[in-house]
Amino acid sequence: MMERASPESDFRVSLLGTGTPAPRPDRFGPSTLVEAGDQKLLIDAGRGATIRLHQLGVPLGRIDALLLTHYHSDHIVGIPDLWLTRWLQFHYTARAAPFRVIGPTGARDLMSHLERAHALDIKIRTEGEKLPPQGASVVVQEFDNDGVIYEEGGVRVIAFAVDHGAAIKPAYGYRIEYGGRAAVISGDTRYNENVVKYGAGADLLIHEVAIARSELMSEAYVQRIMAHHTTAREAGMVFQRARPKLAAYTHLVFLANERVSPAPAADLITETRQSYSGPLVVGEDLMSFEIGETVHIRCRHPGTGAAESAKM
Ligand SMILES: [Zn+2]
Ligand SMILES: [Zn+2]
Repeated sequence: MMERASPESDFRVSLLGTGTPAPRPDRFGPSTLVEAGDQKLLIDAGRGATIRLHQLGVPLGRIDALLLTHYHSDHIVGIPDLWLTRWLQFHYTARAAPFRVIGPTGARDLMSHLERAHALDIKIRTEGEKLPPQGASVVVQEFDNDGVIYEEGGVRVIAFAVDHGAAIKPAYGYRIEYGGRAAVISGDTRYNENVVKYGAGADLLIHEVAIARSELMSEAYVQRIMAHHTTAREAGMVFQRARPKLAAYTHLVFLANERVSPAPAADLITETRQSYSGPLVVGEDLMSFEIGETVHIRCRHPGTGAAESAKM
């Protein structure tokens, strides 16, 4: 299914970070880049998102908006790095427009507290380095319902509520539409009907997933974590009903402890196949999807950013 020389498309989704809070060098914190026409949107900014953008050659200031799914720390700890590094005047930063953040209720608080936390840096660089203050300024847009939250340059983004557990609210997924095609990302969620609804007929459906070996399932903390996420068999049920052209996993929750090792990634495929028979790929950092007549996959090496020949 995967081709080597993928034709360039002007609708591309790249997994910058496919990990979780686990500090793994090969799977950075959750973050996904969407490039459609002249628009570049970032969904979540987990650990290392800025490094991954740089590896893809995307000037940091070219991001038109940061979209947040929810407020678990692993999805947002990369924000100050991106926000303040993009302000510096280097070739990899590009412009000094305000930093635009769109998220469910809570985005405004988050950003105003970050502005306070970094106030001294902003003052020092404005006065000392004469950086334009508007480059560090933040524009926030909040929403509290399903609906269109972004519409520019032919790109339409629809937010939809998901179910990350009763205590973890708000939590949203996003459907991005461009040129008659659609990419959908589940955000963090348990099995949820809204992902089926908004994911229906998408070209690309990216879903979170969690897996633990059966020996671990008796542990209370494992049950608690699994209750906030989707198993591969459940994700397969979502894919089977939504029927995307390509289904992909990101936010890979591999549970383990000192005695029990994480399940191999191949088990995700085996488990998914219990409920879904269509096209499927387990995401990796710097994996890109070119969305055109078909969806092409391109991989890069997370350590170097160098393009790799296709696999799968
Ligand atoms: Zn979460
Ligand atoms: Zn998460």
